[in-house]
Amino acid sequence: MPGSDSPNPDLLQALRRYFGHPAFLDAQEEIVARILHGEELCVIQPTGAGKSLCYQLPVMLRDGYGLVISPLIALMKDQVEGLRQLGIPAVSLNSNISAAEQLQALQEAAAGRIKFLYVAPERFRSLAFRRLLCDCRPNLLVVDEAHCISQWGHDFRPDYHRIWSECPEIAGLQVCAFTATATPAVQNDIKTQLQRPAMPSVVAGFRRPGLSFQVISCRSKSAKHAILERLLATPLPSLIYASTRKEAESVASAFGLRYYHAGLAPAERSAAQDYFQQDPCPVLVATNAFGMGIDRPDVRRVIHFNLPGSLEAYYQEAGRAGRDGQSAQCLLFHSYADQHIQEYLLELNNPPEALLKELHTFLLQRLAQHQEEEIWNSQVLLPRFPGARSEAHLNAALRVLERYAIVERQYIHPENYRILSFRLPLSTLLQQHQGVQTQRSLFIAGTAGYFQQQGIRQLRCRPVDLCALCGLSLPQVERVLDFLQGEVLNCNGAEAGEVFHLTETGKQSPLNLDLTALKQKRELDYNRFEMVSKYCLSKKCRQAFIVKYFGEKIGTWHCGACDACAGAADTLSRNASAEELARGRSMLCALALIDGEFGRQRVLGMLLGQPDSNAILNQHPSHGKFRSLGEAQVRELLDALQEAGYLQVSAGEYPCLELTRQGLLVVRGKAQLSLSLYSASTARTKKRRQ
Ligand code: ADP
Repeated sequence: MPGSDSPNPDLLQALRRYFGHPAFLDAQEEIVARILHGEELCVIQPTGAGKSLCYQLPVMLRDGYGLVISPLIALMKDQVEGLRQLGIPAVSLNSNISAAEQLQALQEAAAGRIKFLYVAPERFRSLAFRRLLCDCRPNLLVVDEAHCISQWGHDFRPDYHRIWSECPEIAGLQVCAFTATATPAVQNDIKTQLQRPAMPSVVAGFRRPGLSFQVISCRSKSAKHAILERLLATPLPSLIYASTRKEAESVASAFGLRYYHAGLAPAERSAAQDYFQQDPCPVLVATNAFGMGIDRPDVRRVIHFNLPGSLEAYYQEAGRAGRDGQSAQCLLFHSYADQHIQEYLLELNNPPEALLKELHTFLLQRLAQHQEEEIWNSQVLLPRFPGARSEAHLNAALRVLERYAIVERQYIHPENYRILSFRLPLSTLLQQHQGVQTQRSLFIAGTAGYFQQQGIRQLRCRPVDLCALCGLSLPQVERVLDFLQGEVLNCNGAEAGEVFHLTETGKQSPLNLDLTALKQKRELDYNRFEMVSKYCLSKKCRQAFIVKYFGEKIGTWHCGACDACAGAADTLSRNASAEELARGRSMLCALALIDGEFGRQRVLGMLLGQPDSNAILNQHPSHGKFRSLGEAQVRELLDALQEAGYLQVSAGEYPCLELTRQGLLVVRGKAQLSLSLYSASTARTKKRRQ
C-alpha cells in the first residue's frame, strides 16, 4: 500500500530483480505504487533522490515501452547508458545521432524490442516520430526536467511547452512529470501546461540531514578572500561557485586553484571535470555551468563565493556536497555588494522591449540582404549586432524571442561547426600579417583582429562565418584553415550546441509582443532573488527554510546542524588582538586629520606609503606608517573598522571615507575599540609565509 510502513513484497522483489537495490529510498515506493495504480503525478524531488527509478520500475512492470521526454541530451545519455548496463534495452533519439540510427530506433520501439525511449522535445516536430506514437502507444509518458515546460521555470523550452497544445498523438496517455526544482508556483504552472490542473504533487526528499548550511556575512571581497584562505587551510574535496566567469578565474588565480566555466575550450572543460572526479582532494572554482553529470559522492564542502540568483539554484549547487550521506558543509558568502551583481544579472536576463525590437529588425534586415535562411548563434551574431552588451545579454534577448516563437532554437550537429583558437599570441600574429595581401595573411589579420577586439580566446563558428571576417570565399577559408591547422591555429570539431533562426512568424514584421508575461517573469526573477536575501538574513533553521520554500511539508522539523540551529552564527571570525586594536585606533586617528576628504583607495595608498598627486596625503604624518603590514592586512583592518561602524563611506558623487560618531569617540579616547577579523592571527600568518 502506498504510504504504509511495511514494504510491498512484489515491488521490493521487482526493485531487486531489475535494479539490484536492496530497498526503496524515501518516497520511491509510494510513487511507484501510485503510478502503477494509474495515477498521474507531478513529482518534485531533489537531484540524486532517485527519481528515475520511480518511473522506470512501473515501466518494467508493464508490457510495452516507456517514453521519456528530456530536454537535456547529456542526462539522457547517462540514463540510457545506466539502463543498458542493467541489461534493459533503452535508446535515446536526439539530434546528435544520425538519421539512420533514429529510424532504426523507431523501428525497434515499434517492434517492442525497446523498453525505454528517451527523446528531446524537438522530436515532436518529426511526423515519423508522431506516427510511431499512434502506432505503438507507450505505457507511460514521462516528462523529465518538467520545470523546462513552465515559463516561470529557469530554463523554459518552448518546444516542450508546445507538445501539449500541438500534438494530439499524446492524448489519453498516462503522464507523470518529474523535476528537481519547482516551487509551488512553478508546479502549478507545469500542471496548467500539461492540461492537468488537478494533478497531485509529491514533494519529497529535500531534507539532507548530513549537510550543514552556514551563511557568512562578508563586508568586502578581501574579507571573502581571508575567510576562504582559512577554509582552504583544511584540505577537503571542495567546489567553490562564483557568479561570473571573470570572478571564477580571479578566485582561482588568487589561490592557485583550477577553474571551470562555459567559456573554456571543450578539452579544458573535460580536463577540469576529470580533475574534479578523479583527484583525491580536488578544489575547483566554477560558475553554475559546472555540475551536470558530475556525481562525485564525497564532496565535503560547497562554497558560494557570491550570492546565487535563486534558492532553487543554490540548493541544487550546494546539494552536490555530501552525496555519500556523510556530513558536509555548504557555505554561502553574503555581501551587500553581490546584491548589485545579481541585480545586474537580473536586468541582463530580462532584456527591455527596445532591445528585442532592435534585434528583430536587425535579423530581418540580414535576411533581406542575404536572401538566405541564416542561422545564428549568439557568438557569431555578437560582433554584428551593436545593440548587445555581451554574449549573455544577446542570448537572453534571443531566448525571449524564442518564447514568442519569433526565433527557433536548433541543436546543431557538431560536424558543421568548428572551435577556432590561435596557438600564437594575437599581437604577434597581427604584427606579422596586417596589411599583407596573401590569403593566409588576410585570414589571420581578419580573424585574429576579431579575437582581439572581442577579447575572446576561442570562437565557435562555421567556416562560412569566417568568410565575413576576412573577405575570403568559403573554399579559400577551408584551404587556409587546413594549411594553418596545428601550426598557427587549432580548428577542431565543435561540441553539439544550439543555434537560432527566424521562424515564419518571425519573418512577418513588426514585432508584436505581449509584455505582460515579460513583466511577470521579471517580477518573478526579482522575487526569487529576494528569497535568497531573506534566507541569508533569516535566524531560523536554514534547511527548513529552503525545504519549505519547495513546498515539502515538514512540520517543526529542523536540521540541527546549520549555523542557526547550532546558535553559532559566526564561527570563522575572531577577536582582534591588542596589537591589531592599537593599529586600528591609530588608523582612525590618521583618518581624523583628513576626515571625509578622500576615497578609500587613496586613503589605503597613503597608509601604505604610495605617492599621491595630493600634497595633503603625501605629507600626512601617517604616510607609509603601515607599509610593513602589507596591503591585505591594512585593507582588512579598514574593512573591519567600517563593518564595526567606526568608519563609513559618504554618499554623493565622490564617495569618501569618513569617521562615524562612534569612530570620533574612539579617537577622543571616550570609547573602546572592538573589532572582529577573519584572517588568521598575524603571528600564524607570518609563520606560514616564512
Ligand atoms: P535523480 O534523477 O533524482 O537525480 P537518479 O535517478 O539519477 O536521481 O538516482 C540517483 C542515484 O541513486 C543513482 O545512482 C541511482 O542508481 C541511485 N538509486 C536510485 N534508487 C535507489 C535505491 N532504491 N537504492 C539505492 N540507490 C538508488
